Amino acid sequence: MDVQNNRNKSLTNMTCDFTELAVSGVRGLMPYQPGKPLAELEREYGVRNADKLASNENPLGPSPMAVEAMSKALTSTWLYPDGGGFALKQRLATYLGVPAGQITLGNGSSDILDFVVRTFVSADSEVVFSQHSFAVYPILTQMAGARAVVPAAKDWGNDLQAMRAAITDKTRVVFIANPNNPTGTWLPARELEAFIRDVPENVIVVVDEAYYEYASAPPMMAVDYPNTIQWLDRYPNLVVSRTFSKVYGLAGLRIGYGVSHPQVADLLNRVRPPFNVNSLALEAAVAALDDTEHLQRSIDINCQGMQQLTQGFKSQGLDYIPSVANFVAVDVGREAAPVYDALLYEGVIVRPVANYQMPHHLRITIGSEAQNARVLTALQKVLS
Ligand SMILES: *Cc1c(COP(=O)(O)O)cnc(C)c1O
Repeated sequence: MDVQNNRNKSLTNMTCDFTELAVSGVRGLMPYQPGKPLAELEREYGVRNADKLASNENPLGPSPMAVEAMSKALTSTWLYPDGGGFALKQRLATYLGVPAGQITLGNGSSDILDFVVRTFVSADSEVVFSQHSFAVYPILTQMAGARAVVPAAKDWGNDLQAMRAAITDKTRVVFIANPNNPTGTWLPARELEAFIRDVPENVIVVVDEAYYEYASAPPMMAVDYPNTIQWLDRYPNLVVSRTFSKVYGLAGLRIGYGVSHPQVADLLNRVRPPFNVNSLALEAAVAALDDTEHLQRSIDINCQGMQQLTQGFKSQGLDYIPSVANFVAVDVGREAAPVYDALLYEGVIVRPVANYQMPHHLRITIGSEAQNARVLTALQKVLS
């Protein structure tokens, strides 16, 4: 008998039901569904040169300066990374204009969201986030065994009035993605600040700015997009999270950060596992911050691609949700799951969002000009 069969046999022979042993939050957990990897699509569907426009990655890839920094650091990977991330925190402190003591480094910004929940949320707490918001919020809430309170969205975005009304004395954390994923909608400064001012100070408000760089800079520039870092002095319960996964093209490295009141940062750093950020990521992130040209190129190609895609949708008579991020949710006017599947056969991976209660939409990441053209052609073909 081969090894594989042996293993299967011992798996079925267990006498203990581990699901029963798992803590209740984990028992009810639905794992996050990542986008289909390219290699898997090519194998399963027999297509070649497929394009993945499903996970909001930068079509230009990382800055060459970041790649060079990583190459140089490769031979030092036998050493543990700097557990305090000193150099990167200093660089971020300068870039953001805050003391390094207000920064927490994460293995992706998802790590920061996790630390906030671990620090402030217990089984009898409530966590508030909007309908159609990022899938990681319900997962973290469920993991903590807490109750998710999910007000209905307004115009596909956060309904701040409904969110305020949903806050009770059990609420510990509110999550707001700005811009929001998967809808691409954003909240202007005046509205968002009025909300934060109105929230009791003992409720942590996390503003998740994974797409900050796209929304805040020309030529995209969301109208009245807030600079939340400047609000930290006024609102000690505010936590801002950002990432190197999106515009900086370093999703595979896993690095992001949180900025908060120093006392909150101190708490987040207590739950942060030692060495949570690897040494290559620490080096690459510093170099990525230095390469402002690559950053601007990435923002520019995104803005052009957004116009290309939305013009294409218009000419095909498809509705879409206006977005200030590096993706756009398009309404395919019917059940989107079969459309997603048909697109796979055309060699294009996009993101179905039925699990976000958007069964007629597909979320499409802005790619290169050629990739955008390909997805538009494929869409036209499968919808005809
Ligand atoms: C992509 C994304 C993140 C960040 O993911 P990390 O790779 O863990 O930094 C966080 N929030 C939202 C809304 C996102 O879309």
